[in-house]
Amino acid sequence: MLIFHNMKKNLNAIFSEDLEKLLNKFNEYSEIESGNRFCCICGSLITLSNIQLLIPHNNKPLEYVCNSTNCVERYHTNKP
Ligand SMILES: [Zn+2]
Repeated sequence: MLIFHNMKKNLNAIFSEDLEKLLNKFNEYSEIESGNRFCCICGSLITLSNIQLLIPHNNKPLEYVCNSTNCVERYHTNKP
């Protein structure tokens, strides 16, 4: 399941076609396709099929968490 983690800390499920649109909006789609994005927890390569969380930041690049249960749990445990 894909989850978009938005600024209000709500979790909204999004569909893969919306993910593509979203990534295009952030100019991130080609970066992911080029293998330039990595999980912010474990450092695994992020692909269109293993994105679990997208974390937007003001004036900073998007962060990604891969679909490893361990990474998702660690992200939720460690966040400020
Ligand atoms: Zn990971």
